[in-house]
Amino acid sequence: MSGTLYVVATPIGNLADMTVRAARVLGEVDLIACEDTRQTRKLLDHYGIHTPLISYHEHNEQSRSEDLLLKIQAGKNIALVSDAGTPLIADPGYRLVERARERGVAVSPIPGPSALLAALSASGLPTDSFLFQGFLPIKQGQRKKLLEELQPLQMTLVFYEAPHRILDALDDIEAILGTRPVVVARELTKIHEEFLRGTAARIHDALAGRASVKGEIVVMIGKSETREIDDTPIEAAVDKLVQSGVSKMEACKTVARQHGLSKREVYKMINAR
Ligand code: SAM
Repeated sequence: MSGTLYVVATPIGNLADMTVRAARVLGEVDLIACEDTRQTRKLLDHYGIHTPLISYHEHNEQSRSEDLLLKIQAGKNIALVSDAGTPLIADPGYRLVERARERGVAVSPIPGPSALLAALSASGLPTDSFLFQGFLPIKQGQRKKLLEELQPLQMTLVFYEAPHRILDALDDIEAILGTRPVVVARELTKIHEEFLRGTAARIHDALAGRASVKGEIVVMIGKSETREIDDTPIEAAVDKLVQSGVSKMEACKTVARQHGLSKREVYKMINAR
């Protein structure tokens, strides 16, 4: 009898986000297909799982899919994982699942973390209708063209972006989507998790003021009629609080929290005047 292909979501940073069912399935299957065996081994070691691993990544998807399907059809149960999050979501696996379905092989999802939904669920942007576009194109011309195509859509737009391209991406978002509300979610579920909220221009300035931008990033853009995110300049917001009797330090802390910045960043802006 044919086995099952399990599509298993794994943590996107915090190892405690592994579901009980994911750990059980990864421990019970005959083989785990993963992008980077060293990365997945770390996760499995944490949970005391000793299932054998086989690599499955964008460069061997085609040939490895066939091999894995033959094993499943011969009765083996196989789990597919990616380095982090949900397989197939801007990650390999589509070819394998598509072929499994074509052949009537059972495919079962083991749901769990995904940066897309984690970011969206805590963004404060409308979630009733959204478009996930994966990674923004690397080349500026293609990126701008895509943003122009998406501009008329009245829904939240969600992208993955690399930290070394975020400033260029925000420049293009500002040029094409203007003052639509933007949320940049960085390092979700990790120690330095943060949400930067504002216009693309303001988030750009906040990030450009840092020595470097590191970590993993999800960029979200609200629809144009979304209630505007409070775009009062940082300095004015601090002044307003100070005038109401709050100490300068406390005002910086409050404004930093409201705008997804660190207290030090706000303090620096105030003192740079
Ligand atoms: N399949 C994964 C998922 O379900 O989230 C996404 C894989 S994709 C190759 C990796 C990208 O996802 C990163 O470059 C980043 O844009 C986003 N990402 C992954 N983990 C993240 C995290 N902890 N915080 C923010 N973004 C994250």
